[in-house]
Amino acid sequence: MDFTLTDEQKMLRDTARRFAENELAPIAANVDLDSDVPASVIRKMAELGFMGIVFPERYGGFELGEVGYCLVQEELSRACASTAVVLGGHVSIGAMAIYLAGTDEQRERFLPALTSGDRLAAFALTEPGAGSDAAAMRTTAREDGDEFVLNGQKTFITNGGIADVYSIFARTDEGRGVRGISTFIVEQDTPGFRAGPPEKKMGIRGSHTTDLFLEDVRVPKENLLGTRGQGFKVAMRTLDVGRLSLGAQCLGAAKQALDLSIRHATQREQFGGAIARLQAVQFMLAEMAADVYAMENIVYRTAQMCDNGDPFGREAAIVKLFCSEALNRVVDRAVQIHGGMGYMAEYPIERFYRDARITRIFEGTNEIQRIVIARDLLKKKMY
Ligand SMILES: Cc1cc2nc3c(=O)[nH]c(=O)nc-3n(C[C@H](O)[C@H](O)[C@H](O)COP(=O)(O)OP(=O)(O)OC[C@H]3O[C@@H](n4cnc5c(N)ncnc54)[C@H](O)[C@@H]3O)c2cc1C
Repeated sequence: MDFTLTDEQKMLRDTARRFAENELAPIAANVDLDSDVPASVIRKMAELGFMGIVFPERYGGFELGEVGYCLVQEELSRACASTAVVLGGHVSIGAMAIYLAGTDEQRERFLPALTSGDRLAAFALTEPGAGSDAAAMRTTAREDGDEFVLNGQKTFITNGGIADVYSIFARTDEGRGVRGISTFIVEQDTPGFRAGPPEKKMGIRGSHTTDLFLEDVRVPKENLLGTRGQGFKVAMRTLDVGRLSLGAQCLGAAKQALDLSIRHATQREQFGGAIARLQAVQFMLAEMAADVYAMENIVYRTAQMCDNGDPFGREAAIVKLFCSEALNRVVDRAVQIHGGMGYMAEYPIERFYRDARITRIFEGTNEIQRIVIARDLLKKKMY
């Protein structure tokens, strides 16, 4: 595989790196403390084109593919996981569901305002009684003349309350199992639709996570995304993309945790010299580097598969599983290398440690990724 970046991709990476270093890193601790990614940061990402990197030009995007998008997510995640998650909720799952499932007319109607960042998107699949078992959802969409009427509750929705456009999954046909689920666009100001208060979280605190309540929410039939009954497929295809770019977020965070650990190990002195001279510390750094190198390779290899139009569902699950577990190993070692300082909120590594934990849970838990991978292996009866 050729991992050489094009000039355009290098420029995009450098832009994201400058933004992350100059504008995100200095405020990341406050984003965490205030539990809010400021609207100005979201606006700036829109100005830099980050909201539209992956989408075709005809919908206002830049057509820089998943490789381009992963480069941006990697850089943002070196500075502020919360900001990367806000962008991910918008691009990789919220707007992506519209792109993957929408008709041309629906794409033209909704995507330009999302790729420009004028409006923010969210993706609402999970419910209080339907997490890993998404097909158990109870939100319904009943046909009524030229409209669908939605009732139900979604939970743990990224960008809840701040998004303008929601890709929402609901049951249109009782008794048809996963084939009875459809996807709808619900705009934030639709009567009967409201978000709950933001959840208080262990990490990625700057991203808003809320419940969504739908009480007799009427949407025109034109807001049914794509084909009735295809919603579960839409959710799974969207999550493949989400899982891949989550890998890039894990990679960026892991690289930063490793760099901070190298710096600390070379500066901190104990027993008459830098702790970096101790083999126990060197071995931890080496293990971290091995994880980072493997993450980097599988993220960009899978992003290329996606951009080439090759199937990448199993690989996306592997990326999500491996990168999230690797990141958790890396940040754990990073805290260890930092000693007591690693446990103090004053130093960024404490935030990286908290932020990392969610990556093993959302976009499908790692247990679910193992199921996806094993099912695919057994279906094809070979690697
Ligand atoms: C911060 C945050 C942001 C989120 N953002 C979004 C979002 O934007 N949109 C959205 O739709 N959802 C979102 N989610 C929801 C997230 O995807 C779910 O939390 C996740 O899929 C797990 O569902 P659950 O929490 O109900 O856990 P459960 O499904 O209750 O799982 C609990 C445990 O049981 C295990 N388990 C369950 N079933 C199996 C099985 N068959 N085999 C083995 N183990 C199993 C799980 O792996 C887990 O360890 C978000 C969640 C969080 C915490």
